[in-house]
Amino acid sequence: MIKPDFPNEDLKKDAQVMAFYHHFEDPTLFESDLCRKCGGKCCKRNGCAYAIEDFAEITKKGIMQKLEHEASIRATFEISNYGATPVLFLESRGKGKGPVNLFSLPTSCALLTDQGCLYKIEDRPTGGILLLPKEDEKHELCCEIDEHAQAILLKGWLKYQKLLNKLVKYYTGNTVDKQLSLDILAVIQVIGKKLESNLSLTEQEKTCIEPLPYFREPLLDDCLANDARRLKLCLKYSLQNR
Ligand code: SF4
Repeated sequence: MIKPDFPNEDLKKDAQVMAFYHHFEDPTLFESDLCRKCGGKCCKRNGCAYAIEDFAEITKKGIMQKLEHEASIRATFEISNYGATPVLFLESRGKGKGPVNLFSLPTSCALLTDQGCLYKIEDRPTGGILLLPKEDEKHELCCEIDEHAQAILLKGWLKYQKLLNKLVKYYTGNTVDKQLSLDILAVIQVIGKKLESNLSLTEQEKTCIEPLPYFREPLLDDCLANDARRLKLCLKYSLQNR
């Protein structure tokens, strides 16, 4: 695997991002007591995002190789007055997931083992390198990612949307909108069921359905056709807890 040429030119202009980068450039920091004590809480919720700089060159072949075992195509959403626009990117693969996992409930990363991450620090996706382990005021351990750096990382994928769209079609037979619509249905069925039973949601589940009110048709088509009742419950919850 190629060592990421990171940070890119955009990132280098940002002092805060550079501070992050230099802090994490030293691999010994990942052996810190904080990381050991934590045991990978962040990796148990999600994989970490690849930056385009993690690839020597973005080619269909290179992306497909990565999608064989290690990564999935994921979606994040740009929210505007017109609703939520999906932006596709690559993330280390969640347990039990395939090459396409656009939208799902929090899932532990498949690369997390009892001994920690299977990747060496220098091979880890950039999103993972940007994580800052810390202890909050209650001495709870958690990881925080610099949102500005994450936004720049995701921006890098914008020019590869056409390729990732084609790959979603290749692996699933569906357009991105159709696949997202099915994924959203699967999520609202699980969360809606919990809400029906008055069970409380985990913080990750709450975060997962946060963008729901911004989703418009056709992203909600399958929910409206198959489980409008649970969709309504999830929307209500998400609006009340904004
Ligand atoms: S690739 Fe490694 S660091 Fe990133 S989420 Fe998976 S286990 Fe954690």
